Amino acid sequence: MSQRPDREQVLDWVAEAAGRFNPGSHPEDVLVWAAEKVGVRRLAVATSFADTVLTHLAARALPGVDVLFVDTGYHFVETIGLRDAVADVYDVTLRTLAPVASVAEQDAAEGPELYARNPDKCCALRKVAPFSAALQEYSAWASGLRRDDHNSRADVELVTLDPRRDLLKINPLAHWTQEQVDAYTEEQSLLVNPLVELGYRSVGCAPCTAPVAEGADPRSGRWAGFGKLECGMHS
Ligand code: SF4
Repeated sequence: MSQRPDREQVLDWVAEAAGRFNPGSHPEDVLVWAAEKVGVRRLAVATSFADTVLTHLAARALPGVDVLFVDTGYHFVETIGLRDAVADVYDVTLRTLAPVASVAEQDAAEGPELYARNPDKCCALRKVAPFSAALQEYSAWASGLRRDDHNSRADVELVTLDPRRDLLKINPLAHWTQEQVDAYTEEQSLLVNPLVELGYRSVGCAPCTAPVAEGADPRSGRWAGFGKLECGMHS
């Protein structure tokens, strides 16, 4: 399929997937199935390069697949380094997306450090807008959401409708635990974000990410003090 599917078509695919996949289904099977539905050139894999598990699985299942990374202008240098290493080593087509405004232009328009005053608006401008614009070229996208990321993600499904964009959305790692992620990372000798070893169990933009204590909620270091859990790309 080369054209964008309508919502009814996507819902038919979601219903088909519900009968086809179960919590033990391999992530690569979900990726391949989705690519068969929409065409591999119409499937995008989203990553923030906190790790490279989904990107590696996608490279194995769908060589050359498009991988989207939003460079907000606020990423850790370690994350940018990991992105560059993945582009060199993994068999994917890496696309770096940029907000319309540079950080300096945003500072001029909104005042400096918008993230410290209105992180929802900052995320909307610097993450969600460029990502949504890029998704207009695709019919399906894959995210690395997992149920054990946080209680708020406990109901994440393997295959679902992206209701905001009427796209097929797959979460191939939905049922993987942190232990499975760690084991796959070690078995496959994956490229890793060095920040994880420093206690950053969830990695986002530098001003909005802090390391967390051993055993603490991995996402508690994100937007600390704002009661904010998500950037908005998934809602
Ligand atoms: S995570 Fe922080 S710096 Fe990054 S876009 Fe959101 S509010 Fe802005």
